[in-house]
Amino acid sequence: MNDLNRGSRGLVLVYTGDGKGKTTAAFGLALRAAGRGFRVHVIQFIKGAMETGEIDLIAKALPSITVERVGKGFTWRRDVVPTFEDHVAAARDGLARAREAVTAGTYQVVILDEINVALKKKLLETNDVLDVLDRRPNELHLVLTGRGAPTELIDRADLVTEMRCVKHPFQRGIPAQIGIDR
Ligand code: ATP
Ligand code: MG
Repeated sequence: MNDLNRGSRGLVLVYTGDGKGKTTAAFGLALRAAGRGFRVHVIQFIKGAMETGEIDLIAKALPSITVERVGKGFTWRRDVVPTFEDHVAAARDGLARAREAVTAGTYQVVILDEINVALKKKLLETNDVLDVLDRRPNELHLVLTGRGAPTELIDRADLVTEMRCVKHPFQRGIPAQIGIDR
């Protein structure tokens, strides 16, 4: 660890609320951390196979940021619709991976993207997520994103930002834009 890390203290950061910007804020933070020589691991819950621009760029150009997806949000085959149990299994798998990433000693920042949505949909138990918080080494920063963060998580976090939707183009029927939404 370099001088910049002196006095460092791992934080729990939560980006929640129904306004746009939670995942992009988390990736902005990943960029900032990687710029300081940190290793960042992102686990994306819920999302399935949906492609977003940052994933391609990270895979091509930013080896200190790694991303894995554990969700069953989308499937390419219309005849294979994931059941609730499939979603639960995928989310639990993701949480097990989160536990490994947090305790591995490899990463300085771990981002659990959309994990709040997995909680809201009852794919995971809040206590099991809090258990991952408890296992965190002192210097590791843990970021949790997604609408509807539960009170217990908000209570335990060091930083909580609630994105509030003032306006969204979708409300006027403007579809998701490449480079902005995905
Ligand atoms: P982003 O990934 O753009 O930072 P987010 O993580 O805050 O957004 P999610 O709830 O994860 O938001 O939803 C992701 C997608 O839904 C994005 O395409 C985003 O533009 C869209 N979205 C986010 N907030 C709203 C909203 N209030 N109304 C309509 N669509 C939204
Ligand atoms: Mg998001």
